[in-house]
Amino acid sequence: MCGIVGYIGNKQAYPILIKGLHRLEYRGYDSSGVALINDKNEINVYKTKGKVEDLEKYASDKDLSGTIGIAHTRWATHGEPNDSNAHPHYSQSKSLAIIHNGIIENYAIIKKDLIKRGYEFKSDTDTEVLVQLIEHIKEKNNVDLTKAVQLALTQAVGAYAIAVIEKGNPNQIVAARKASPLVIGVGDDEFFLASDATPFVEYTKKVIYLNDEEIATITRNDEVHIRTISDVEKTPELKEIEMSLNELEKGGFPHFMLKEIHEQPKRIAEAMRGRININHDNVALSGIIDNKDKFLNAKRIIIVACGTSWHAGLIGEYLLEEFTRIPVEVEYASEFRYRNPIINKDDIVIAISQSGETADTLAAVELARKKGAFVYGICNVIGSSIPRNTDSGTYTHVGPEIGVASTKAFTAQVTVLALISLTIANMKGSLDKKRYKELIDELATIPAKMEETLKTNENIQKIAPIFTYAKNFIYLGRGYNYPVALEGALKLKEISYIHAEGYPAAEMKHGPIALIDAEMPVVFIAPHKGMYEKTLSNIEEVKARKGRIFSIVTKGDNVVSKVSDYSIEIPETEECFVPLLATIPLQLLAYHIAIMKGCNVDQPRNLAKSVTVE
Ligand code: GLU
Repeated sequence: MCGIVGYIGNKQAYPILIKGLHRLEYRGYDSSGVALINDKNEINVYKTKGKVEDLEKYASDKDLSGTIGIAHTRWATHGEPNDSNAHPHYSQSKSLAIIHNGIIENYAIIKKDLIKRGYEFKSDTDTEVLVQLIEHIKEKNNVDLTKAVQLALTQAVGAYAIAVIEKGNPNQIVAARKASPLVIGVGDDEFFLASDATPFVEYTKKVIYLNDEEIATITRNDEVHIRTISDVEKTPELKEIEMSLNELEKGGFPHFMLKEIHEQPKRIAEAMRGRININHDNVALSGIIDNKDKFLNAKRIIIVACGTSWHAGLIGEYLLEEFTRIPVEVEYASEFRYRNPIINKDDIVIAISQSGETADTLAAVELARKKGAFVYGICNVIGSSIPRNTDSGTYTHVGPEIGVASTKAFTAQVTVLALISLTIANMKGSLDKKRYKELIDELATIPAKMEETLKTNENIQKIAPIFTYAKNFIYLGRGYNYPVALEGALKLKEISYIHAEGYPAAEMKHGPIALIDAEMPVVFIAPHKGMYEKTLSNIEEVKARKGRIFSIVTKGDNVVSKVSDYSIEIPETEECFVPLLATIPLQLLAYHIAIMKGCNVDQPRNLAKSVTVE
């Protein structure tokens, strides 16, 4: 993911582009850059590793003139975040510059062909391949920029929002999209383009949303012309946006947390993109494959994490043991680091942290490395301390999580743990091919099923006020859903300040059952798969003691839902993927209860997003 922005008009482009990049920085911030056409009709590209403010420092003494330009804040997918991989990318002759959000999946084949034709590459990105291809097609066929972009995109497989400018053509930006966002702002004698409308909302409210496989030719003092990749002319549809800047930054949601809950289908799809192949018969995580021997010879995996990430780790334990048959232990990083743990050279330590800066987890990483273990990171923030201090790892790629209570980062961590488990299982042969493919097929359906699960929001919003009286909650689940119960309870505690305990459902009778009376809300995660009947018995036990039951059930269930006071349906899925769906109604329940209680859900008291202290 990244943020892209473009401008053509009668103002100086650079200040507009920089301000736009700052607004889009939530989309990626490992490097950034800008390309401007000056009054000599030359393209100047300035780009650097780091945040947009680093770009500003870097560019401060350069020629920043020009009334046309494109800019990018990157979130690396192909090639590490460094100066040369930062966008914009020049073509071979420097006559073109491109910015791109997305992944060109078949970049390697195109690159090989272009190299044979004498093209030299300056970056490791998939993006540079596209700009070289456009130049090659343009020269070979002697066509204009729009046509060259169109022809090039017929060869590109993958996702893109791109913008291209051309030396000697200071009046035109060509943009195109497929599966990555792109919106054109139409002002008086000026045009903007961006990943979302935030960069230009103070200049114009008139927008054109580009559709998939459409190419826009944006010409100074002209109209926007749109053609599809298959060369059908389209009439641009001008729309009016009404949102304030403030709302847009939260994507129209009242809180970042609610926005982030709703982002999950898209983010989880992004976390899987490029990792699950098109035929769904292979999962490839380079961090695992590049260290194949380590994983094949691992005697034990130790997962270290804190808070929500620790809950993801517990689900990881179930996934890894089921599919890879490698023994797994899950540790609180804060305990692990101080108890002189036994760590062997053939152990693998997996550290999970959204921010990549969690102090205890970082210390656990350092300890594990000192003791000779191979250390693998699962983090969200690119270039943060844990990824820099681990031997290898996988990013969750969910974009900045601003709400303090983690939502999308959790489901992405579970997704990555599923991808890791499947990758190792395939390498080891611990899962038969048919089952492996079945699981990949099912995992690929999760974003759509998450979308369906989000439809429970309205219902949960109606139920939530009933529970604001509660001082305590119990959350119960078994197997894969025990960690979901823990996570559900944590969400409620964090943002509504209601005390909540998560427990394995069968453990209830060893203590917590004493708490149950007519006042006690008990949340059950009781999907069809797994220990359904056994969980049902636990529900009956609570019912017999007059507990108030709120259950998460599989769509169409008419047994648990009958025993429950309130039930929420989620789509059917494999037992191991239920946490990816069942977590969502629990996030929503916590959110709506907290809102009803008047709590600040985005910044709950005493908490911080990135726990960089012990
Ligand atoms: N795949 C491109 C890259 O790695 C674009 C990534 C992005 O969307 O920022 O540079």
